[in-house]
Amino acid sequence: MLRLPKRELTVNFPVHMDDGSVRMFTGYRVHHSTVRGPTKGGIRYHPDVTLDEVRALAMWMTWKCAVVGLPFGGAKGGVVCKPEEMSMNELENLTRRYATEIAVLMSPEGDIPAPDVNTNPQVMAWIMDTYSMHKGYSVPAVVTGKPISIGGSLGRRDATGRGVAICTREALKYLKMDPKACRAAVQGFGNVGGSAALNLSRLGMKVVLVSDIKGCIFNPAGLDIPYLQSITDRFGVVDRSRLRGAEELPGSSWIEQKVDILVPAALEGQVTGETATRIKDTVKILAEGANGPTTPEADVILNDKGIFVIPDILCNAGGVTVSYFEWVQGLQFFFWSEEEINKRLEEIMVRSFNDVLGISQEKNVDMRVAAYILAISRVAEATMTRGIYP
Ligand code: NAD
Repeated sequence: MLRLPKRELTVNFPVHMDDGSVRMFTGYRVHHSTVRGPTKGGIRYHPDVTLDEVRALAMWMTWKCAVVGLPFGGAKGGVVCKPEEMSMNELENLTRRYATEIAVLMSPEGDIPAPDVNTNPQVMAWIMDTYSMHKGYSVPAVVTGKPISIGGSLGRRDATGRGVAICTREALKYLKMDPKACRAAVQGFGNVGGSAALNLSRLGMKVVLVSDIKGCIFNPAGLDIPYLQSITDRFGVVDRSRLRGAEELPGSSWIEQKVDILVPAALEGQVTGETATRIKDTVKILAEGANGPTTPEADVILNDKGIFVIPDILCNAGGVTVSYFEWVQGLQFFFWSEEEINKRLEEIMVRSFNDVLGISQEKNVDMRVAAYILAISRVAEATMTRGIYP
């Protein structure tokens, strides 16, 4: 049952373009599992979106929600399009029609989308508004990642990077290492990488390198992360003309720094059989901020090197956890303070980290296998307990 998605929807729909033409678009929404609760997962706008990719991402969401104990199953959606070539008006038309097409699957009780690659709080606002227009009243809990003004949660923007830093701190505790004596390098300086770097530096460690699509920014004495964030655009690209006391290095050099902690937080497939061999002996922890940054071949090399890997389904689960808080707040029309949100996030991340660590020690397996053991056994137990209908 767990190998196959529960349901898959393909929609082909027309959109009015600015030049007066009508163009057809194809989109998908896949629910992998509903045994632990309504489905949760982002919507991606990208020319390479395929049904198979959406299936895989939906299954990943099932495991991620289960590993941190959220009452959700996994879903994902996507539209095949090139958003950078579309106007705001065209994107709004596309979003509202896609939302209407997938409304047969979407609801606060059934399936709650969120942002993913190339979708953002504005896109979520259009989805929420479209759904609410059809209902005749406001339904904030139908999507998460919304702007604060219409029921978004405080702390959501920072949540994934904050979770990465909490897991790293717990791993340092387990390895009996002092954060203040550690150096870190972070690949990616967007939503996840930027906030991971900031929260790691708040733990007292030196973040000596961050990178973006243009290359790496390096200062052996430690980078001023708040300053770098102030000169970074909304695509996570740092303005090189305003760098202070930092040098530029080629993009690939993030992985070969003499640091204690590496945080891939940009793209999938970055730590490969080839790049993993370039990791220095000083590295003790690899904290996966991105989804799927490490290939199976690299996993073997990392294990041989004795590197403690915090797997993506645990390490970057802070984002979906605060999305869960946003959904709960939206259902109750009662909103929490940022302090309350961060406190609850901290509790869930620390508990989940220790659950996975406990399994890894008990069964003598690495953290990734332990995270999958925990996630799959939770979903399997719920499946068996509910039984097969009729
Ligand atoms: P983002 O678009 O905000 O930032 C991406 C960063 O990576 C940017 O700094 C960009 O310049 C950089 N980048 C892009 N291509 C690169 C390349 N070829 N080499 C080096 N750097 C490159 O994206 P994000 O939301 O931070 O997501 C990053 C990763 O984290 C993705 O794998 C995403 O699926 C995963 N993730 C995100 C969240 C979230 O809440 N945003 C939650 C869980 C997982």
